Amino acid sequence: MAAKPTTRCPNCGTLNRIASQAEGVPRCGKCKEPLPWVVDATRDTFAAELRASVPVLVDFWAPWCGPCRMVSPAVAAVAEDLAGKLKVVKLDIDTAPAIADEHGVQGIPLLVLFRDGGEGRAPGRRGSRLLSCANGFDSALVAATARA
Ligand SMILES: [Zn+2]
Repeated sequence: MAAKPTTRCPNCGTLNRIASQAEGVPRCGKCKEPLPWVVDATRDTFAAELRASVPVLVDFWAPWCGPCRMVSPAVAAVAEDLAGKLKVVKLDIDTAPAIADEHGVQGIPLLVLFRDGGEGRAPGRRGSRLLSCANGFDSALVAATARA
């Protein structure tokens, strides 16, 4: 088993380990502020990671995908901006082709927002543009899920 990833608290700088949880959101052990919530899923944990009390943004990616590397920092920035309001689940589709098929992933990067059983999609460059304007992201989330 790999060590659990650590996340630095943007508020006080403390390193926190984030455990899987279906209820609530991860908070800093020291200052109790919500932490950016980004997890790497595997084919075994993906379904469980989708169950959260906040909307879940899934980043379908693969190590060979250059555009995915460009989207990744934007996804991380949104996770920080929306700490406590959003969970990000990253899935390397090479390790989980069956899940990619199940969700009809035809090309990456693909960002899919899951919320209350619905989903909204932002493929490729549209996804990165969506993510680059973090201010509009809350309403973008709502719009994306409303279309689902
Ligand atoms: Zn803190």
